[in-house]
Parts: sequence; C-alpha cells; structure tokens
Amino acid sequence: MIQIKLPKWYDLHAHFRQGAVLPALIDDHLKMGCAGILAMPNTKPPVAKVFENDDLPYMSIEAYHAMLNDAGGEAFNEIIIPLYLTKDTTPAMIEQGAKSGLLRACKYYPPHGTTGAEHSCSFDYFLEKGVFKALEENNVVLCVHGEEHAMRPEDYFSRKTNAEEEFYREQMPRVIEKHSKLRIVAEHLTTKVGADLVQQADNMTASITPQHLLYTMGHLLQGLKYHLYCMPLVKFEEDRQALRDAVTAPENSKFFAGTDSAPHMKKMTACGCAAGCYTGGIAPQLYAEAFELAGVDMPSSQGREAFTKFLCLNGAAFYGLAVPEETFTLVKEEQIVSKLQTSEGDIIPLPLGMNTDDPDEVISMPWKII
Ligand SMILES: [Zn+2]
Repeated sequence: MIQIKLPKWYDLHAHFRQGAVLPALIDDHLKMGCAGILAMPNTKPPVAKVFENDDLPYMSIEAYHAMLNDAGGEAFNEIIIPLYLTKDTTPAMIEQGAKSGLLRACKYYPPHGTTGAEHSCSFDYFLEKGVFKALEENNVVLCVHGEEHAMRPEDYFSRKTNAEEEFYREQMPRVIEKHSKLRIVAEHLTTKVGADLVQQADNMTASITPQHLLYTMGHLLQGLKYHLYCMPLVKFEEDRQALRDAVTAPENSKFFAGTDSAPHMKKMTACGCAAGCYTGGIAPQLYAEAFELAGVDMPSSQGREAFTKFLCLNGAAFYGLAVPEETFTLVKEEQIVSKLQTSEGDIIPLPLGMNTDDPDEVISMPWKII
C-alpha cells in the first residue's frame, strides 16, 4: 500500500465564517492534518481593524482570533488573520498593527468581486494612499484576490481574456515596480498569465486551490456543476497545465497550498450561485489526486519531495511559520466523502457535489488520511 508521511501543513487561505458553524469547520481542518490556518477576513462585519478598542465599525483581528480560538482553533499552532483593506485602512494602522505583532498580512479584495467584498476599494486607491508602502515598510504580507473589477460581462470572461488576466497584466505590474520589497501572495491563482508573472517577480508567491488543479471550465459547464462555481472561475486546459507544472516542478519554491475552502449551506439560489467550493477535511487527498493526474509518481522520492514542498514547506517558509514536527499520513486507499452536517445546515464537499445530486449519498476518493 502506498503511504506518504508528511509534516502537518498550513492551509494558507480558508474561510471559516463565524457563529455556530465554526466548530464543525475547524474540526474538519484539524482532521486533515492542518497545523494552522490563514483565516479569511470577509466576515460580517469584515475583519478590518486590528485592535478591539479602535472605534471603526468592523470586527477586529483580536476579536476574530478569540472567536476562532473559542471554537476549537486553540488546537492550531498558528492562526493568521489578514486585515481586510477598506477605505478606512491607513498607513498608521498598518504600522501600529505590525509593531504589536497582531498584523502579519492584509487582504485586497476587488470591490464587489466576491462573497462579502463590498467593503473594498480599488487597487489604485491603496497604492495612492500609501497603504501598500506601509505594508512594504513594515514587512506585512499583501494577500491579493487578483481580479479586475467592474468589467462588462463581455470582457469579464471572453475567449481573449478574463478578469484575472486583466488584473495581472494591468494592475499588479505597477505595484511590483513601485514596491519591489512588498511581499505579495497571488491567492487562488487560476491562469497561466498569473503563474508566469509570479515566476518572474522576485517578491511574489501564489496559493493554488485543489479545484483549480483538478478541473477546467468544461467541468463547470458540462451539467452546470454549481458546486464547482468559485471565484476566480476555473479556466482552460492551458491554464490548468501551467498551474500543474508550477506546483509539481522539483524546483518549486513559490507555489503553495491554500484551499480557499468556503462553506455555503445554500449554494444555489433563485437568481444565482454562491461562489466557493468546500474542501475541508479532504484537501490533501484532492491535492494528491491532482499531482497524480499531473503525471507525478507520488511514491517516488521526487514525487514526495515536490508534494511536500507544495503542501507543507513553501507556504510556511514564506509566512515564517515553523514546519511542525507532528505528522499525518496519506494512503492510496478509498476514502468515503459525505455531507458535513452542522447546526446551521448541511455543507456539500466539492467531490460529492461533482458526482451526485443526492446530498445523502456518499462517494469515494482515491486518497485517504489515516
Ligand atoms: Zn477565498
């Protein structure tokens, strides 16, 4: 039997939301060998101030950290909560937050681009207001949801281009040029254009989700698999190949795991679809499946090394997190996947949603965690 022992890893992009659903989500992450998380700040209200005693009408990093800890997050070695950049974010706020040790990363969302992104401003706004400069000077990581906003539907996704390509062609190069020491993560990267820029820019890294390594736009459209609907959208075969090449390269030091796992109790609504795929509890298994589909011989030493770099080492190194001594083991054996029942409602993990229309059914995946 093929067994791969790995150090526990950090999921460097995940959504936990808030309230009664938290313990079930945190537990699912702990079950998949997670030693720590980067917990996204698009809560209600967003996590857009550092300190609780600040008057701004947002949640604070202090309060969200305490909320996650109370719900079982104490079991993690590390929780990083990036500050949601809003019109109220100032360079002074960044400096004070960084000095306190509470602020380690900030998150740029395209305004109105995705779930809970209505509080953001344009990329230029933060550039002009000196916010990116403050991040650079205080060694705070900039996490970026890289999609151009307010595009016409015709341009948002066309045969020639899409919102992510536009962003990495038009917006990001100006910031890299102006702030060459600003440490940037292109989060949930989906395109070859984005991957090429990350390879070229010294100060850029990228996180990659399981779904963007596994699927393409055809998978989403064939049968309209709405459980695969996420932002940024899955793209084309050329893009998936570029991502697969990047994560499986023996010399990869820039691409790392960030699941973007997002729980939605109600994925499909009467006039649209909530963006996000749930991969809590099963992400290393899905990544292993994707590596195999990319042609990696997982049991070989080269295969294990590439997988370990991507899942466990590169992201930890970039964020300055210790690689845990605790381990977990992936086995090439069928694992049953079923819905996650929470007090707030059921959540359908991505592989289940891709394969059955009966939420009470179970399906199996090729890799299992023991
Ligand atoms: Zn996300």
